[in-house]
Amino acid sequence: MTDTTVLELDHVTKEYGEQTPVRALRGVSFSVSRGEMVAIVGQSGSGKSTLLHIMGTLDQPTSGIVRIDGVDAAGLNDREVSSLRAHKIGFVFQQFFLAEHATLRENVADGLLYAGVPAARRFRLADLALERVGLADRAGFKPGTLSGGQRQRVAIARAIVGQPAVVLADEPTGSLDSATGAAIMELISELNALGTTIVMITHDEALAGRLPRQVRLLDGQIVSDSAQQEQA
Ligand code: ADP
Repeated sequence: MTDTTVLELDHVTKEYGEQTPVRALRGVSFSVSRGEMVAIVGQSGSGKSTLLHIMGTLDQPTSGIVRIDGVDAAGLNDREVSSLRAHKIGFVFQQFFLAEHATLRENVADGLLYAGVPAARRFRLADLALERVGLADRAGFKPGTLSGGQRQRVAIARAIVGQPAVVLADEPTGSLDSATGAAIMELISELNALGTTIVMITHDEALAGRLPRQVRLLDGQIVSDSAQQEQA
């Protein structure tokens, strides 16, 4: 690992169940450097969701090491893991998970709640993040009137508002039509060009092919990593 590594997995395994365990991950090792944009691509059942949960510190590996910005998540208690997650990781999901009763500003500011940022500053940063996704003029509105693409923009603003070390995006265009999905991918690429590190999970080979690096997962193992091929 180098000092620019923001995410590192070392021989990570995950088994579900005890009697006849399902081996969802079988020794996954890779690292992501600051500023990278990486697709993790694989068919259904290959272990993508499991990997996302483990990279996001939402679940623990059965064995192996997960380091977020140099910190080994296994060495932390629950409160410390929550804090690490709040400060270092932004999530974007296929389903946008916006609070319908709250304004867009409040939805985005929620991304900072667990990072312990005072309210006035949360709202100021939320407005800046909404500006970055092109929704500054909607900050005081509730999500009700928004299109799917606009909802995903709000979710992206919420993910980046705390300037996390890495944004984990799980099929971010999966519930959007292709034109809207392309616009969201353009936004994600723009954010990456401005320095945001992105790891995107997808089953879509064509989409993955548009990112600079592809890590391919099959049956819980990495079968190729375009970054390794370039080095070889
Ligand atoms: P993907 O996201 O690529 O579809 P998953 O990570 O969801 O892959 O699943 C990988 C494997 O682990 C599959 O065989 C799946 O059935 C199994 N699996 C996932 N979650 C669980 C769970 N909670 N309990 C038991 N098996 C699981």
